[in-house]
Amino acid sequence: MSVEDEKPELRVGPDPNVIYPIKVQYCGNCSLPIEYCEYYPDYHKCKEWLEKNLPSEFEKVKLDDGSLEASSAEDEKKRQKRGGKGMLKTKKKEEVQKLVTVSRAPRGKKKSVTVVQGLSTFDIDLKVAAKFFGSRFACGSSVTGEDEIVIQGDVKDDLFDVIPEKWPQIDEDLVDDLGDQKRSLHKAI
Ligand SMILES: [Zn+2]
Repeated sequence: MSVEDEKPELRVGPDPNVIYPIKVQYCGNCSLPIEYCEYYPDYHKCKEWLEKNLPSEFEKVKLDDGSLEASSAEDEKKRQKRGGKGMLKTKKKEEVQKLVTVSRAPRGKKKSVTVVQGLSTFDIDLKVAAKFFGSRFACGSSVTGEDEIVIQGDVKDDLFDVIPEKWPQIDEDLVDDLGDQKRSLHKAI
């Protein structure tokens, strides 16, 4: 092409180097000959214009950048996948069952401890909760795991009243009695 070194963006309207009449089709969006549309920043609007006004040319353009479309479709897929994952994560978080479980575990031959799990599913600060149990039952109480409090003493049955009383958002039905559980933890409890 004789005008190859000329920047297409600078050209407005008919090309002075071309003898007219010539069958050049100009884009109604960017006013460049349609073969320059792809250099126009607003190319997708050009394509929209083409689709409306020169469907036959639009088909060519569409075929021309078929690879582009394909890769952007792929990008779209990836984006969707990422979005999907994010949504899955959120969903999973929502699906965390809000449930407090209480169980009794033997401690030595005659004593028991009470294990409370699941308080953090109600966004309860475990340290605060452990302190509360300690003063409520006048016994040792400490956070022993990610979502676990061990109370020194068998207070399991009291917890069905105490927990909903202290945290009204925890219905008594949401406090599950796991009965007696052997603790295999090597921690001193
Ligand atoms: Zn255009």
